[in-house]
Amino acid sequence: MTFTLAIVGRPNVGKSTLFNRLVGKKLALVDDQPGVTRDLREGTARLGSLRFTVIDTAGLEEATDESLPGRMRRLTERAVEMADACLFLIDARAGVLPTDEVFADILRRKNAHVILGANKAEGRAAEAGLIEAYGLGLGDPIPLSAEHGEGMAELLSVLTPLVDAMAERTALIEAEAPETDVALPEDGDDDEDGEALRLPTEARPLQVAVVGRPNAGKSTLINRLIGEERLLTGPEAGITRDAISLSFDWSGTPTRIFDTAGMRKKAKVQEKLEKLSVADGLRAVKFAEVVIVLLDAAAPFEQQDLRIADLAEREGRAVVIAVNKWDAERHKQEKLRDLREAFERLLPQLRGAPLVTISAKTGKGLDRLHDAVMQVYETWNRRVSTARLNRWLEGMIAAHPPPAPGGRRIRLRYMTQVKTRPPGFVVMCSHPEKLPESYSRYLVNGLRDDFDMPGTPIRLTMRSQA
Ligand code: GDP
Ligand code: GDP
Repeated sequence: MTFTLAIVGRPNVGKSTLFNRLVGKKLALVDDQPGVTRDLREGTARLGSLRFTVIDTAGLEEATDESLPGRMRRLTERAVEMADACLFLIDARAGVLPTDEVFADILRRKNAHVILGANKAEGRAAEAGLIEAYGLGLGDPIPLSAEHGEGMAELLSVLTPLVDAMAERTALIEAEAPETDVALPEDGDDDEDGEALRLPTEARPLQVAVVGRPNAGKSTLINRLIGEERLLTGPEAGITRDAISLSFDWSGTPTRIFDTAGMRKKAKVQEKLEKLSVADGLRAVKFAEVVIVLLDAAAPFEQQDLRIADLAEREGRAVVIAVNKWDAERHKQEKLRDLREAFERLLPQLRGAPLVTISAKTGKGLDRLHDAVMQVYETWNRRVSTARLNRWLEGMIAAHPPPAPGGRRIRLRYMTQVKTRPPGFVVMCSHPEKLPESYSRYLVNGLRDDFDMPGTPIRLTMRSQA
């Protein structure tokens, strides 16, 4: 029994493109013409370390946004019945169309477990659609770009607990099944599915990546965290052919850690390590929620370190800076001062991120590392109510009004948080294009300070009022 995900949605939202990306073969046809693919198709999806079955419902000869032929409806209903969960795609560029509402209705009536994906979300053209998607009442939309492979880490983190729950259930059923072949009751199965699928988010392991230059001490750290024995008994299948993930209990937190070059070295591929480590790091970042940027105290903040820290921020991950080999440091006080100064100067985009000194070798500082990771993870997931935000915005405007180019003051009318992981906010604004970057920075820094959100990227978008 494998977990089955159906990709549903109106024609042309990018179902086949996503199917292709997940299955990795050009199985489904992609075309600008709506409905070039003809029927349901099924493939084995690979996403990170997950394997599951995916069904593509792109299969409609002709449809306009106003009509939804019975065939498409039947196809969708059939897929929903076959699937454990549905990934409902909308086109974030087009926004929510009436046809999307029809699909939302089908899914609601079928009581499907729905993951809402806002596709074509690369770039700014998608922001409005993303906000509209909240209005479907199907939970937070995941911004995706099937074409560019964006949002796959979020998709992975949503699917992982579902697939794991399914696997656990299967294992249980198999363990409890008598030796003789007795048919399991078909009835009630659906209910159980529903239960298992609606796992609380706490059950999901925390996804952490350790990135850093070769010799920073990544494998030493991971060994120390996981325990030598566990590592030697063999890592789990990789998130990609090159990277490896390991699950362990980190001081009471179920954690999945992504390592790349470090363990690969142990896995006997020695050559090209230097070159590979950056690419590997990038890959690990994509799958992580929290990124630990591991620096060598003897040579901190080198170009490669800065690049990977910046990338983690741009990918919207929560970041902790860990300075390793602290045991070998002689002048700890002065060194720490220098480190903090360099951090502020060289990585202003990560303002407030925790900087923790550790020794992977002795294990010193690893409790503080755990605390820092939990703290940024919590912040990364933080949601601020619209009421509080707007009260706060008023205060910010009163303290420092936006400029008035050409004598007309730019009005900031309304603010809301549109996403978490990382926190993202939208401000409705009279002339967003005229608002200087410095004013956005003022607001972002204010958000950080007033709502206690250090160490996480914060996305702030100005939108003109429609
Ligand atoms: P389907 O009918 O839902 O299966 O949609 P397709 O996968 O055939 O995609 C429809 C069109 O949208 C094609 O032209 C794709 O290239 C395009 N498309 C798919 N995903 C994306 C995306 O993430 N971004 C953008 N900009 N276009 C996309
Ligand atoms: P990786 O390439 O980032 O995986 O780095 P390794 O874990 O292989 O460590 C590189 C070298 O640094 C090894 O010789 C380790 O013994 C050493 N090392 C790692 N952590 C520490 C530490 O906390 N203190 C000291 N003094 N040496 C360390």
